[in-house]
Amino acid sequence: MTAIEHGVPLAKLTTIGVGGPARAVARPRSVAELREALGFARDEGLGVLVVGLGSNMLAGDAEVDALVLRLEGELAAVGVVEAGLVAGGGATNAVCLHRARDAGLGGFEFACAIPGTAGGGVVMNAGAYGRDWSDVLLRALVVTAEGEQWVVPDELGLAYRHSAVAPGEVVAGVEYRLDRRPPAEIRATVAELIAQRKATQPTNKRTFGSVFKNPAGDIGAGRMLELCGLKGHRIGGAMISPMHANFIENADGATSADCVALMVEARRRAHEEFGVVLEREVVFAGLPELPVLT
Ligand SMILES: Cc1cc2nc3c(=O)[nH]c(=O)nc-3n(C[C@H](O)[C@H](O)[C@H](O)COP(=O)(O)OP(=O)(O)OC[C@H]3O[C@@H](n4cnc5c(N)ncnc54)[C@H](O)[C@@H]3O)c2cc1C
Repeated sequence: MTAIEHGVPLAKLTTIGVGGPARAVARPRSVAELREALGFARDEGLGVLVVGLGSNMLAGDAEVDALVLRLEGELAAVGVVEAGLVAGGGATNAVCLHRARDAGLGGFEFACAIPGTAGGGVVMNAGAYGRDWSDVLLRALVVTAEGEQWVVPDELGLAYRHSAVAPGEVVAGVEYRLDRRPPAEIRATVAELIAQRKATQPTNKRTFGSVFKNPAGDIGAGRMLELCGLKGHRIGGAMISPMHANFIENADGATSADCVALMVEARRRAHEEFGVVLEREVVFAGLPELPVLT
């Protein structure tokens, strides 16, 4: 049985760097260890929270009452195959992209500025520059305490920053379908996309990526919050990024409560000024849902 740690702060497992201790943490290195950990959670009556790089996650300040799973070892490995890549659910996008580039496999360049894992990419159907996981995913290995199954994108219900992967289901591996492309071209595209990112988003700050999904219509969430005058608005140690208003920065010892308070204020202002109810993109762990706007 994989070791169970207690009291690991979620602040250490998330990119924003806030969050209280996890009730229990396991770091399975194989599907067998993952099945064991999931069985342990089931037997103990504990919920399961998979944390990839925690790059789209906000955890509460109090104890998070769940078994947190971090996929390591085989479950974070990456290999090159005929059709593209095979990767563990815990493999980082950065490593996948490097392996793909070195093998002359293109199509994953869009993920160069998405600091997550293969599993997190599936669950969020992460995307950028007009492409998302549904464009490259061939199939995913989904594991539960009861069993494991390869599933294809149609069965995963991938839509804008959404999938049908349910709590307790773990994406333990993926296969990506990629196309032949010279490494030099891949390198040039990535350099261009990263430069665009650095010019428009706070890539060197502690954030959890987009706070809200873009609403229907012409104005994105960031522009809307900017028009509300919220750039640089601060509550406690959390601040709406002066660079891009759909990001919250951990400016100075932020708590989860500070981040939530900023989200509540941002939604209130967008509702008041644009009549729009912004829907959060960031995943809440151990936090209640945001209040309903009336
Ligand atoms: C600077 C910055 C820029 C970003 N830019 C983008 C962008 O351009 N486009 C975009 O879409 N996102 C972006 N994000 C958000 C984030 O990187 C993506 O959503 C990413 O896919 C999350 O991956 P993760 O592994 O960190 O998932 P986490 O944040 O750890 O988790 C997100 C959700 O996925 C679940 N999960 C994670 N791994 C698994 C697994 N193996 N099995 C089952 N469930 C799992 C978690 O339980 C949680 O519900 C950005 C974030 C940052 C900090």
